[in-house]
Amino acid sequence: MERSLHDRDRVGVQDSVLLDNYRSEDAFLGNLKKRFKENIIYTYIGHVLVSVNPYKDLPIYGPKTIKEYRNTHIIENPPHVYAITEAAYNSLIEESQDQCILISGESGSGKTEASKKVLEYIAAVTDHRGQVQPVKEKLLQCNPVLEAFGNAKTTRNDNSSRFGKYMDIEFNSLGDPVGGNILNYLLEKSRVVGQNPGERNFHIFYQLLEGGEPELMEALHLTRKIDYYNYISKAGKDSKVGADGLNDARHLKEVCNAMTILGLSAREQGEILAIVASVLHLGNIDVSEQQGVAVLDNFAHIFAAAELLGCPEDVLRSALTHRTILARGDTVTSPLDRETAVYARDALAKAVYARLFSWLVQRFNKSLQPAARSKTARNHLMGILDIYGFEIFRHNSFEQFCINYCNEKLQQVFIKLTLQSEQEEYLKEGIEWEPVEYFDNNVIINLIEQKHKGIISLLDEECLRPGDTSDLTFLEKISEQLNQHEHFISHKKADNKTKKIMSREEFVLVHYAGEVTYDVNGFLDKNNDLLYRDLREMMSSTTNNIARVLFPKSELQSKKRPETAISQFKNSLNQLMSILMSKEPSYIRCIKPNDFKQAGVFSDEIVGHQVKYLGLMENLRVRRAGFAYRRQFEQFLQRYKSLCPKTWPSYKGPAKDGVRVLIQHLGYQPDEFRIGETKIFIRHPQTLFEIEDAFQAR
Ligand code: ATP
Ligand code: MG
Repeated sequence: MERSLHDRDRVGVQDSVLLDNYRSEDAFLGNLKKRFKENIIYTYIGHVLVSVNPYKDLPIYGPKTIKEYRNTHIIENPPHVYAITEAAYNSLIEESQDQCILISGESGSGKTEASKKVLEYIAAVTDHRGQVQPVKEKLLQCNPVLEAFGNAKTTRNDNSSRFGKYMDIEFNSLGDPVGGNILNYLLEKSRVVGQNPGERNFHIFYQLLEGGEPELMEALHLTRKIDYYNYISKAGKDSKVGADGLNDARHLKEVCNAMTILGLSAREQGEILAIVASVLHLGNIDVSEQQGVAVLDNFAHIFAAAELLGCPEDVLRSALTHRTILARGDTVTSPLDRETAVYARDALAKAVYARLFSWLVQRFNKSLQPAARSKTARNHLMGILDIYGFEIFRHNSFEQFCINYCNEKLQQVFIKLTLQSEQEEYLKEGIEWEPVEYFDNNVIINLIEQKHKGIISLLDEECLRPGDTSDLTFLEKISEQLNQHEHFISHKKADNKTKKIMSREEFVLVHYAGEVTYDVNGFLDKNNDLLYRDLREMMSSTTNNIARVLFPKSELQSKKRPETAISQFKNSLNQLMSILMSKEPSYIRCIKPNDFKQAGVFSDEIVGHQVKYLGLMENLRVRRAGFAYRRQFEQFLQRYKSLCPKTWPSYKGPAKDGVRVLIQHLGYQPDEFRIGETKIFIRHPQTLFEIEDAFQAR
């Protein structure tokens, strides 16, 4: 572990603000790299924690380290996710401020691992009276279940979260956790019915096949052959256990155990696994065509799916091959052709699975409700946000559009809160400062979500408009209306101006993090998120209790058109934004050191790219624009009082005066510092080095 600033040559600086050449990206990267090579994965930019994924287990976690960070100020120890958590927790208790810890970074950068460390720290340092053990246990057990159902192996990450998660922990006035609440965002449900080469479906499918006891397998009509099931066999040999360290069989036991701790009954667990199995069976129902009409083959799977969901076999068969439309009070039923029946089958599998996932979250929330809230003292919240990072794939679709839109929104929060709090601090402390230029991505957010004119409005319009609409008419529309926008490139503009090679089914958005080419194929369909009435009706009468509540009858009776997927997402994101803005934020910016999930490899290019788009250099400049360092008078005096005879062993009088005496003794030039209301501000890191070195050399 690094001990002092004396180690600078070997382990770089703990806080990038202390870099001499803070404007240079090379210097910033060099510092991260130097530290990474020494297995020091954490570095600060002021109070923002930068974390570089080591891809190996380091002995830097656990009870001993937690003890070292407990009750310390953030500057007293080397940077760590525990230090950020301690600071947030401390502020929650001492200042009664709601907190949120925002964890961002691209896939595989370590967000989920970081979020678990935050939770682990909170669990370790709370509950002095031993009264909230069950709550802590429940909070910790949500993760294994949510990961089983919401994570999957992708080319980027063996345990990639395919949903966004915001978890609030609720604390009583003693600072002990008494409950929690989880919000989940947009599960990537297309994965249920198909995956890219080398990727897997959600973990739970493999866990069930590998780990299910023989009686369970029999009851669910499953065989252990992964290759046998269409929805999960795409990954081929990659889906097997072993080489990847994915121990599916063991995980199933953990998942069931976690569900038990969370209060799910054996019956509920049975119904959940029955639904998971029914999805596998649905995938194996083959559809052929006779005279233009869809015919289902493979009776065994129709039978199994119907039994597990709890509906008559002929009802399932009919619902998968017919479509009933209500028109002016009349119902018209017509048979589906093969293609449409396959579409209907996949839509059912996706809907059942995604709704089951949301049901699980709701069920956990019920279990995490505080037993009783005090009428007099308000409880406080600490939120942890672990949400998908910016994605640029070779092929980007509706899902990437949603994810990247979400990241634009989060970047906006980051910009507002880091700049705003910096400005506010100078204002509050009565100190002049010089603003820093930064790119405000609001212009891109407008392009996406402006009423009537933005991409979301235009997409919804095309989804709702009767007549001959398609992905291409949508593309035509945005190309026409947004052609002038500086962050939008249509294939028309590309031909003329930028000479970009784009197909006629693509458009480009210039995101804050880079240009992304989106393929419009599937946009309307995914946004409409249509599930035929016959299937919803069938599901709402099933005897599997969980399956039935996933599709409430009220939904069928409602005259209102269901909200489109993107509108729902937009609304839930805006709610999330107001939640985050009402809390005191802490940031963890996660970085992936290479593309090969490999330990010890630090690619300048790959890290450099992330540093750029996470806005870390801007962040650093803002932090440095005024005064690089600031300390509460009391803390500053406490740490350095030994450097001046007049303040040692203690200063009798206000800390502010003590600080004045101390820095006069140290010979600070007037321009080098400012005395605010509660803090001393120091302009240059060098000044701090000198005093810190003197302190270390005492
Ligand atoms: P995604 O967006 O795909 O969900 P993520 O940012 O959540 O990605 P993680 O799942 O947290 O990424 O991390 C990916 C893998 O990297 C982990 O499974 C683990 O092997 C390794 N890893 C991440 N953080 C650490 C750490 N602090 N120490 C050791 N290994 C880590
Ligand atoms: Mg994750």
